[in-house]
Amino acid sequence: MRSRQDLQQAFDTLLAPERFKDYGPNGLQVEGREQVRKIVSGVTASRALIEAAVARGADAIFVHHGLFWRGQDGRVTGWMKQRLALLLAHDINLFAYHLPLDAHPELGNNAQFGRQLGLVASARFGEQDLGFLGQRGDGAVFTDTEALAVHVRKVLGRPVISVAGANGPLQRIAWCTGGAQSYFEAAIAAGAQAFLTGEISEPQAHYARECGVSFIACGHHATERYGAPAVAQHVASELGIAHEFVDVDNPA
Ligand SMILES: [Zn+2]
Repeated sequence: MRSRQDLQQAFDTLLAPERFKDYGPNGLQVEGREQVRKIVSGVTASRALIEAAVARGADAIFVHHGLFWRGQDGRVTGWMKQRLALLLAHDINLFAYHLPLDAHPELGNNAQFGRQLGLVASARFGEQDLGFLGQRGDGAVFTDTEALAVHVRKVLGRPVISVAGANGPLQRIAWCTGGAQSYFEAAIAAGAQAFLTGEISEPQAHYARECGVSFIACGHHATERYGAPAVAQHVASELGIAHEFVDVDNPA
């Protein structure tokens, strides 16, 4: 059993949220009980995740997507009321770390997503250095965009949207998890031959064809489900408390 403050300090030391300009508050978003025996981690603080945490007797939840974002109108109604009511009724702490969780060089979303795919980063690019650029860890190359898309589909167990750039083998692969389609041009400028992220918008299909750099949209949730459990497990082991990851399936 450890105190809420011990958890907060362990997460902050690891993820250094003060180094980032973010879209919402990082750290403790909803205060729960003072002592923590068990953490449940997940991608998003959805009602389904909170219910799963309640069912598992968790004292704290650790997520990538918390409850509060810049631009919200601030009213506690509808889904927000339901999520908050559950957290407060069960006295559960909610910790959320957004960009700091994407960025951590070993345990973050980008590092862990790359690891799943067998990619090794050798450089970073884009705003706040969130983009990763590297190659296959086994030294091989992907024979073409289709081969890369098949590999990603197999590892993630879900369909992807793939737009081929140039024909031929792909060695320099860039990636940025989540809704990072706006990083595509920075990936192109950094010399990538293919870019992987969660989502695609209309313009990126044209950039891919016109710039000769392949684009693969792998799913926002699918690319961001590896960082939260890695960080939560690391901190739970460090503090000697229990941890369980709950993956609430999301096709988007
Ligand atoms: Zn995200």
